Amino acid sequence: MVNKANRQNLIKDCKEEFNLYYDEILQKVRKICSDKLGIGMDEIAASSSFSNDLLCDSLTSLEIVMALESELDLMLDNIEYTNKYSVEDIAKQIYYKKYGRELHSEHHKGKDIIPVSLFENSREYMELTAKKKALGDVELPYFIPHDSVVRDTSIINGKEVLNFGSYNYLGLSGHPITVKAAKDAAEKYGTSSSGSRILAGEKSLYIELEREIANWKHADDAIVLVSGNATNTTVIGNLCNDNDLIMYDSLSHNSIIQGCKLSDATARSFPHNDFKTLDLLLEKNRKYYEKVLIVIEGVYSMDGDIAPVKDFVYIKKKHQCFLMVDEAHSSCVIGERGNGVDEYFGLMPNDIDIKMGTLSKGVGTCGGYIAGSYSLIDYLKYCIPGFVFAAGISPILAASSLEAIKHIRKDNTLVKQLHESIKYFLKVAHHKGFDTGLAKESAIVPIIIGDEGLACELSNQMLQKGVFVPPAIYPAVPMGEARLRFCLTSMHRPEQIDQAIDILFNLIKENTYQLTRLKNVV
Ligand code: PMP
Repeated sequence: MVNKANRQNLIKDCKEEFNLYYDEILQKVRKICSDKLGIGMDEIAASSSFSNDLLCDSLTSLEIVMALESELDLMLDNIEYTNKYSVEDIAKQIYYKKYGRELHSEHHKGKDIIPVSLFENSREYMELTAKKKALGDVELPYFIPHDSVVRDTSIINGKEVLNFGSYNYLGLSGHPITVKAAKDAAEKYGTSSSGSRILAGEKSLYIELEREIANWKHADDAIVLVSGNATNTTVIGNLCNDNDLIMYDSLSHNSIIQGCKLSDATARSFPHNDFKTLDLLLEKNRKYYEKVLIVIEGVYSMDGDIAPVKDFVYIKKKHQCFLMVDEAHSSCVIGERGNGVDEYFGLMPNDIDIKMGTLSKGVGTCGGYIAGSYSLIDYLKYCIPGFVFAAGISPILAASSLEAIKHIRKDNTLVKQLHESIKYFLKVAHHKGFDTGLAKESAIVPIIIGDEGLACELSNQMLQKGVFVPPAIYPAVPMGEARLRFCLTSMHRPEQIDQAIDILFNLIKENTYQLTRLKNVV
């Protein structure tokens, strides 16, 4: 039992130990930064951020981290090469690694803990309110109710608006074939799996869906879970052990990062799409681990860029790793038939070991899947908590997913229409001088605005003029890179695209925003 006196002693011990070791580590980090950057130690504060204050590019940050790792003989986890880290963040992580204890901010400051019993007084809630406040008086364009199918248009407040904020890439949500399949399944099976499939909930419909996905993805077998997010978290979280290493792209979706945090493996990111740096890191570190899992996405959700998957396949083979590709935004979108990265890059069936995808986007339903080898799927079906200790997908969603995938495999008309929408949107946006970042052939096309508040304000104003397009702001994208994130579908027609771009263009012109990211808008 920790009474007050004991606790004071604990606080004192922690504080002394912290002072003793942490300062030493901090000096070491500052010294290595100073040596690598050729600047004086007095120019490097504990709070200096690698990107904003020390002006390090991703490779320089990597060199610093590698130098520290080699000097201190440890490997740092979850280091983001987007350079969000400060000198202090690195020093704290080293302290934690070396002394096996997380820094306890209140303890080492020697303050007494104030119990929190109202959630509005919690750090978590106060952080949220501070973030909302930082956006100023702008009304947050979130949780807007749509009372209709969400495709090229939707109904908001009883009025039809143009919709550029849905992942219904092929218009399969609300399509007669999925709606009929859903109705028939509800009649036949009811609305729930009524339990975990392993014990209570298996249906031949599920087996048929998993076979269809396996065939579609050229894999031995497949497993379907209730959400894409849960699929990443539970699969990545439980595929590796503490003898293993997970290397993930620095712009990975939150569900991948959550999976890495859950895993006992060492996890760290590599700079976005940078297979050469990954190669260097593996050159140095592969030998210390049994399994190495590389996780990338086919198309990245904030920029719409396509990963150089072929290069990652080469790296994974060279270093004997497992490659997992999250195809949330590439399946149903890239490739002539919308088959995703395999088709787009002409890959062999076994080039990717773990083919992950969601059903909530191009397929138009909800759920997540993994396709892969028999042994992988066998393990997942018996061992991952998010499947074993969770209900199966609803039969309604299983049946509509099955029909949607069959349709995509049979007929690529919708995929071709989507490609036309993407091409047309890019043409019109560029003609007006908008910066669309890295977007090229995917259904996600950001228009970079820059300022966070302005992106929210423009999104609100667009909606008032009949166009729904949500903003993406920090921390989903780097600070100062806020954007309106247009999602295209096979159903958008050229005149709808013209109308949306014209409205945005006129809003910017009317308000004469003097912002660097919009300087080319003509
Ligand atoms: N992976 C990526 C890359 C995503 O963008 C998302 C969701 N936007 C998910 C996984 C999670 O999928 P779901 O929304 O179907 O749960």
